[in-house]
Formats: sequence, C-alpha cells, structure tokens
Amino acid sequence: MTTRNQSPGPEGEPVSVFTGIHALDLGFMGTDGVIAAYLLAGDDELALIETGPSSTRSALEAGIGALGYRLRDLSRIIVTHIHFDHAGAAGSILRDCPDARLSVHPVGLPHLVDPTRLVASATRIYGDRMDELWGSIIPVPDDRVDVLKDGETVRAGGRHLRVLFTPGHAAHHAALFDESSGTLFSGDVGGVRIQGTGFVSPPTPPPEFDRDAWRSSVRVMRDVRPARLALSHFGVFPDVDAHFDRLERALDDVTRIARETLTAESDTTLLTERLLAYAGKSDGRMSNDATMRRLELANPAFMGALGLHRYLRKRGELG
Ligand SMILES: [Zn+2]
Repeated sequence: MTTRNQSPGPEGEPVSVFTGIHALDLGFMGTDGVIAAYLLAGDDELALIETGPSSTRSALEAGIGALGYRLRDLSRIIVTHIHFDHAGAAGSILRDCPDARLSVHPVGLPHLVDPTRLVASATRIYGDRMDELWGSIIPVPDDRVDVLKDGETVRAGGRHLRVLFTPGHAAHHAALFDESSGTLFSGDVGGVRIQGTGFVSPPTPPPEFDRDAWRSSVRVMRDVRPARLALSHFGVFPDVDAHFDRLERALDDVTRIARETLTAESDTTLLTERLLAYAGKSDGRMSNDATMRRLELANPAFMGALGLHRYLRKRGELG
C-alpha cells in the first residue's frame, strides 16, 4: 500500500503508516486529529494498539471496515495505559470479539478488570461530562488479559513489538516499538502534538505525573532509535530527535511555570491560564483556534494544572 501521508486523513479515512500499519482517526467529540488508534494487519492476524474510548467505537469500527476487515477479527489488543482515551472501549470490544485477548501493563490490569476506582477518580475531574466524553466503561474479564513485561517482544498483527515500560505520564505506561518498521507507538509519554505544528505538549494529569521518571522514559525511547513516532494524540511524525528535544523542554517549562505560579493556598485557575498561554505562544502555528481546540481535547490545560499541583505538593515544593 502506498503512503499518501503519514497521518489519518479527513473524515476518519484510515491512512497507511507503513506496510501493514494503519492509523485510524477516532473523530473524538466530532473533531478530527485528536485521538488515534493503530491497526496492525499481517500474517492473517489483526491487532489493535489503543482502543480509544467507548464514545468513539463506531468510528473505530468504520475505520477497520474501510480497510476491509471486521472488528470481530481482532486477535490482540494492546493498550499503552488505561486512561479512557486509550483503553476505555477495551471491555466493550472484548465482549464483541470472542477471539481477542488484551495486553496491558500489570499495574493497570486490576483497574480494567474492576474500573470502579478509575471511574471515581475520573468523575472527580470530569464531573457530569463523563458519559459525553468517554461513553460506557465495561469491565474487562481477567481471563482475557495478558500482562506486558518490560523488554519482552510481543507478537501482534504480523509484527514483533518490543515493550518499553515508560512511566512519567502514568506509572503504568508502556510504549511499543516495532523494530522492523522503526515505528514507536508512544502512547502519551511521547507527548501530544497536533498535526501541522511543532509544539510538543506533555500531558501531566493527576495523580502520577512525574517529571524525572518521564525524562528517563524519553531516554529509553530515544535509545531504540525510532524512525517515526506514532502518537495517540495525534498521528505520525518522522522528526524524532527534534520532537523529543521539544518534549523535554516543555516538561521543564511547564514544571517551572507551575512552581512560579502555585503556592500552598492557591487553586489551579491561574496555572491553567498560564499553561494555555504557554501553548498558544510556543509555536506560531498554535495560535489557530482549531489547533488549540484539538490540543484542549487531547490534553486539557485544567487537567495538566491539577497534575502539576499534585506533583509539586507531593514533593513538598508548595510549602
Ligand atoms: Zn493518558
């Protein structure tokens, strides 16, 4: 298959990343360019990296169908971590795909089998928008799950994916590296970058954001020397070194902005405004309203501010 460009096309049309690797735009909240999933097809196997939330399941099925496959033919689903925008539809897809098994980091597994605590903590952040954003959350049967191990190679969709435990965004995050194509599926630890822009935004949600762990994870990802990054938010970028340089700079910048803004007594309103302003002026192409809307859907500034607040408080930096 020819590669027209390396990111999902308009209206969710799947785009080839490499032979047998397809990027699907899940059209999150009616907006393209926010949440991607990747379909791997080869050796008569169909595998999915990231399910997206249940609210975008019809777009996922449409994308798989447009490639001539069926959702129920999936045999392997791998999620980089358990946040709803990456794994929210896992239970619902497993229910409808009798032959599929799910792979996830061992620390994330219990929260997919019993999502009660995950739903409660997300509800504290998103309130009455939970259903609109994520749709239904169905528990994953524990006999359908395999745990990922750091450094192992997992066979999926005709490819051999090396598992890289990469904490920083979440403690239970795993990136997946397909050596034969050079594609690194970096989940959220690769940062958020909107197509057509250069700014790389680190999503820093509560409760597990950890800048130092994240910087170590960037080294781990650089060390496998990827030829391209396949981001969950959003799409494929070939300028790997420049991307990681910008991610590291932004990690330091947002942490510094948080330190300068927050005190023990303050809430996160001003920090949210400052994070938005920082993103808006980071790259001339970010000032566009549609681009900022995509960034806010993928990595809401208010959530980043909450995570930075928690991180600095935990470290005793807020007095
Ligand atoms: Zn996440």
